[in-house]
Amino acid sequence: MSKLLSQNIESLAEFLAHALELEVESAERYRELADNMRVHNNPEVSELFRKLAHYGDTHAAEVEQRAAGFELPYISPWDFKWSCPEAPESPCMEDAHYMMTKCQALELALHNEIRGRDFYAQVANGSSDPAVREAAAEMAAEEDTHVNMLREWVAREACVTEKRPLDLDPPHMPE
Ligand code: ZN
Repeated sequence: MSKLLSQNIESLAEFLAHALELEVESAERYRELADNMRVHNNPEVSELFRKLAHYGDTHAAEVEQRAAGFELPYISPWDFKWSCPEAPESPCMEDAHYMMTKCQALELALHNEIRGRDFYAQVANGSSDPAVREAAAEMAAEEDTHVNMLREWVAREACVTEKRPLDLDPPHMPE
């Protein structure tokens, strides 16, 4: 698994700041994907993404509750941006998602759930703070259920599992 953290997280406040960013962004991305799938007449997948957005919202709310009373440190946002399966730097969410197929959307979601899970697992394994380890392990376990949920969908939709990048050369949009 690729390393998603440059250094270990050693305080609960630092962990909560990371978790909050991750969950808020994930919920936003899922809402975008849900809208996109609805437009493309994939109501079931749209519904799945709404559900995953809701889990992100719920996580974010739990994290905020836990963070009450903490001064959360500033986290540089690039640490946990959603990424595209084959090309971390590609602008797939911004520029290409209007033409995303159902399988591409599911694979993108799966990829990012795995990253989320691995992020939490790495924090849980790397931290010397027992409170951080426990909170992160709990989140990792929940993300793992999302990973499995998406794996089932990818299988059910008979998506071609061979890695294929999203269209990385979308038509130019006027500035
Ligand atoms: Zn999740």
